[in-house]
Amino acid sequence: MAARDSRITNRSLILIDGYRFRVKSKRLTTEYIQCCGCEGLICNVSGKINENGQWELSGDHHHPPPANEIKKDAFKDRLWRNVVTSQENIRHIYDSTAEEDLQSAILVPFASVQRSMARWRQQTRPPIPSTLFEYATLLNNDQWKRFRMYNGGTLTVRTAVIDNQTSVTVLCDPAFLASLQINELYIDATFKICPLTPKIHQLLTIMGQIDDVDSS
Ligand SMILES: [Zn+2]
Repeated sequence: MAARDSRITNRSLILIDGYRFRVKSKRLTTEYIQCCGCEGLICNVSGKINENGQWELSGDHHHPPPANEIKKDAFKDRLWRNVVTSQENIRHIYDSTAEEDLQSAILVPFASVQRSMARWRQQTRPPIPSTLFEYATLLNNDQWKRFRMYNGGTLTVRTAVIDNQTSVTVLCDPAFLASLQINELYIDATFKICPLTPKIHQLLTIMGQIDDVDSS
């Protein structure tokens, strides 16, 4: 069986016996594949692979298995996964991914992958909502649920209509709130620091004091 590259990028790579193949074309359930060569060397080995992962190849590789290329692919895969699942800036993501595998990181310096990481981030950001209803709908969509998650749990987002000109979106973690005994509340409201799109007039935060520690 061939190992299939899982990264969602422009190309689909398949590993067979330590060599990298790209899919050239597909007819029904058969993919026609071509060896990617090694470090700039072109290779004529080609063949086909069926949906069960059984392949047939013709030709000989006149190059060693591209171990470094495979390491680079695996490192970029990890970068991609971290970019699409984290909100951290891409430089931090690169540094923390590199710490886990310095050998591969040397093969893929930040400058060489920065633009790709920015593109992955762009592709995995939700559109800017134009109304609070759209905002809540987006956040409640499974695709963007990571924006509702925090270290302690998951936020619930609801938008309610007050009158024909006013609506309110509430973000909170009901499970967390239900677990607390709060006697003192603090309310902070600002008109100054509010998003322009969608147009929000007031941002209001309710905090409660527990065990002498502020918790919002
Ligand atoms: Zn080859």
